[in-house]
Amino acid sequence: MRGELLELTRALKNHIITNSRSIYIKGEVYPRVKGIEVENLKDIRSDMGDCKRCDLSALRSNLVFGEGNPEADLVFAGEAPGADEDMQGRPFVGRAGQLLTRIIEAMGFKREDVYICNILKCRPPGNRNPKPEEIEKCEPFLIRQIESIKPKAICALGTFAAKTLLKTDAPISMLRGRFHLYHDIQLMPTYHPAYLLRNPGAKKLVWQDMQMIMEEMGL
Ligand code: URA
Repeated sequence: MRGELLELTRALKNHIITNSRSIYIKGEVYPRVKGIEVENLKDIRSDMGDCKRCDLSALRSNLVFGEGNPEADLVFAGEAPGADEDMQGRPFVGRAGQLLTRIIEAMGFKREDVYICNILKCRPPGNRNPKPEEIEKCEPFLIRQIESIKPKAICALGTFAAKTLLKTDAPISMLRGRFHLYHDIQLMPTYHPAYLLRNPGAKKLVWQDMQMIMEEMGL
């Protein structure tokens, strides 16, 4: 009974955080006011500083904060940096990143037009899945990045990003192909470009998802 109550409380809290019309900055709740700049990406980056909030800091070469247009209409959010990203301090620059760049260009954008980031800012060793305590420390920075950019749409890349952002255990195959509301922003989950490298047959599904995003953005 106590376990059920705890689970219900957790689900309710996640629901409120995910769908709230308020924003969360450093644990404080502020009402969301459209058009009013809350904090800029530079402030958020400097607040992260030489982050040691979790154990991944000891293993990283570079923290990968994210890059792109601070006023982008479209944000791509992946899972965590890999080896290439850790070396360069930039998101999605390895083989999967090159495929993501081609997808972005096929949509009619340049990489600099959109914003690209990850849930975790530091590389998990051996590219293992992020741990809950790492997400707990890092996700608030992603939320602040999104609140600062105020995009029209977010594309969650891969199972892990989609499940973490939407607080669900549903598989990516069930989540993709339709929009979900995330902090009042339309979020489209799709397959991760690394998955596409292994399963090129799924590219047409990703392209369908990208077309829905372009339609949502009036393109
Ligand atoms: N995979 C990710 O999820 N993010 C990156 O930045 C690179 C690979």
